[in-house]
Amino acid sequence: MIDIDGSRGEGGGQILRTSLALSMLTGKPFAMRNVRANRAKPGLRRQHAAAVNAAARLCNGSVHGANVDSRYLEFTPNAITGGELAIDIGSVGSTTLVVQTLAVPAIASHVELRATIRGGTHNPMAPPFEFLERIYIPQLQAMGADLSIALDEHGFVGSDRAGALGQLTLTIGAGGALRPVELLDAGELVGTTATAVLSRLPTHIAERELAVVRERIPEPLACEVREIRGGAAANLLLLDLQREHARELVTGYGEKGLRAEVVAERACREAAAWLAAGVPVGEHLADQLLLPMAVAGGGRFRCAPLSLHATTNIDTIRLFLDVPIRVDPDGDAILVTVG
Ligand code: AMP
Repeated sequence: MIDIDGSRGEGGGQILRTSLALSMLTGKPFAMRNVRANRAKPGLRRQHAAAVNAAARLCNGSVHGANVDSRYLEFTPNAITGGELAIDIGSVGSTTLVVQTLAVPAIASHVELRATIRGGTHNPMAPPFEFLERIYIPQLQAMGADLSIALDEHGFVGSDRAGALGQLTLTIGAGGALRPVELLDAGELVGTTATAVLSRLPTHIAERELAVVRERIPEPLACEVREIRGGAAANLLLLDLQREHARELVTGYGEKGLRAEVVAERACREAAAWLAAGVPVGEHLADQLLLPMAVAGGGRFRCAPLSLHATTNIDTIRLFLDVPIRVDPDGDAILVTVG
């Protein structure tokens, strides 16, 4: 049984998700102590307990300590079978992070999987649905995976009433694979689409955010307001940046008490940093690409900067797989080489 200290590095949920995915794929059981030790509410939250239980169902595995608040967990995998999974997080915990747990093992073991996941679809500190749809999943498809994702209902953080829960559906075909890819050049800027998303909030919030975007983001720029009657009051600003060979989705999350202008300024600063770096892979995609590339046994990408999430993910991957991962400076950027 691989012994894992969940407090290492980032000390968050990704150590758990990567461990679950690689345990399923390698057949190696693991025990994790200090689960999510570096988070304000350590231990398993509902979202993580749902990911553990979904993983156990995907591979007919057995698990001890998968209850909410648990800080110690043992996971013993069995054969990955796929099929239909209905997963209910039971709170607005992130559904997209449950996808991060299931997608790679299902693709790499060539099973068919249809998973409906109920919970939050747009959570701070997690990829919003659109990040999976436009950034993460296209990369897996480019590697040879057969998968798609659908947003059945928006689930915004802000209320834990049942009506505020959303749902997404993940569909994976058995014929896909994960092959090495290289993401080295970004190319010229093609344009940006800014979408201010509102649920049960006044339209002026979106208009004020887009006014900041028009000042800060270079042309060509398209702006739009998307009003959704979700179960909770919510606001997000999505900046979809397209370069010739690369795409990035920056998300600003509105919060009660945080001015719309500040939400937009933060997002614009993050967008400007990605554009100035001239790299194809943004900070979040970098940490998320490591797992599929390691499973593919190869790949290279340029990014900047490499986050603590990414370096921690490399350490977690090394506990399960004997695949070399190198991190080298490359001018002002960083070159990550897997395999
Ligand atoms: P953890 O904090 O360990 O639970 O991991 C959070 C995961 O969500 C990491 O893969 C982050 O890169 C990812 N993430 C957080 N915020 C965003 C965002 N705005 N866009 C895309 N991915 C995100």
